[in-house]
Amino acid sequence: MINVEKFIRPATVAAAVSHLKTPDSLVLAGGTGVTLSRDPNVRTVIDLSELKELKSIELSDERIRLGAMVTMTQLRRASGLPSALVAAARAIGSTPLRNVITVGGELARGVYWNDLPVALLAMGAVVELTSESGVEKIPIAAFLAEHPKKTLAGGKLITAVEIGRPLAQVGYVKFARTEVDYAICNLAAGLRVADGVIREARVAVGAIVPLARRVPEAEQALVGAAPGEEAFARAAKAVVEAVEPRPDFRVGREYQRQLLESLTRRALETATQSEQ
Ligand SMILES: Cc1cc2nc3c(=O)[nH]c(=O)nc-3n(C[C@H](O)[C@H](O)[C@H](O)COP(=O)(O)OP(=O)(O)OC[C@H]3O[C@@H](n4cnc5c(N)ncnc54)[C@H](O)[C@@H]3O)c2cc1C
Repeated sequence: MINVEKFIRPATVAAAVSHLKTPDSLVLAGGTGVTLSRDPNVRTVIDLSELKELKSIELSDERIRLGAMVTMTQLRRASGLPSALVAAARAIGSTPLRNVITVGGELARGVYWNDLPVALLAMGAVVELTSESGVEKIPIAAFLAEHPKKTLAGGKLITAVEIGRPLAQVGYVKFARTEVDYAICNLAAGLRVADGVIREARVAVGAIVPLARRVPEAEQALVGAAPGEEAFARAAKAVVEAVEPRPDFRVGREYQRQLLESLTRRALETATQSEQ
């Protein structure tokens, strides 16, 4: 950001995307990550703040659609959103930060402590990307399979995130030293239960790994079982076995394992108590 020569505030998504072609350009959303960047190669900043079409939350019978410029405060205050989504938005930083941090920024930044992607993984959300070639929608797990910088390379802008209905029951839990600190570990679980049997499960972990991801081993341990202590304990064990915690100066390895175990159970219990 130290060599910025051009500051552009496009009025349409098409205009924003056309500027993304320039290799020295950078998108500005809430700015909480961008302002820390001292990348000397950035010459052009593309500010999305005028794009009203990216600022709305739409609820329909088929889906929930969150524009990329929707802030965490908007998520907290909106009615009709899944409680896990609100909990994840609430878990982020402080009120002044939540007033500016956006859905798109949470997905694109790709730092270990991002809270929202973990909840969205458990919801099976889909990320909408717009480029000059058109609009594509990809499952969030695929979006996060590589660092978002790579996924967004070639002039792609996140324009929205969609969560399909019927919604799964989702629980989100964050563990941090204080309410405003970065997560040491966060966990989300999404369940679809019919006739007393778990038909579909999503378990997602963040912070204790470099980039939020799903844990298929835990999901397999849940599908076909009755929701309850026994199945949740099996899933928690699977998470501990499958997830290699990244080194964290705040906590030891054994403590990280205990966190994975207890937070998985807590996220699953929260999911079963949640309303869709
Ligand atoms: C003190 C502090 C504490 C924080 N605590 C937490 C926390 O506990 N949990 C948490 O989850 N976050 C936390 N954050 C925020 C987090 O670190 C990121 O800064 C934030 O998620 C970025 O969102 P933003 O809207 O501010 O994006 P920006 O800073 O504007 O952008 C971040 C990156 O995403 C790119 N980008 C943004 N929008 C798009 C888009 N629509 N399409 C393509 N690329 C895009 C930008 O080019 C940039 O590379 C904290 C931040 C600070 C400063």
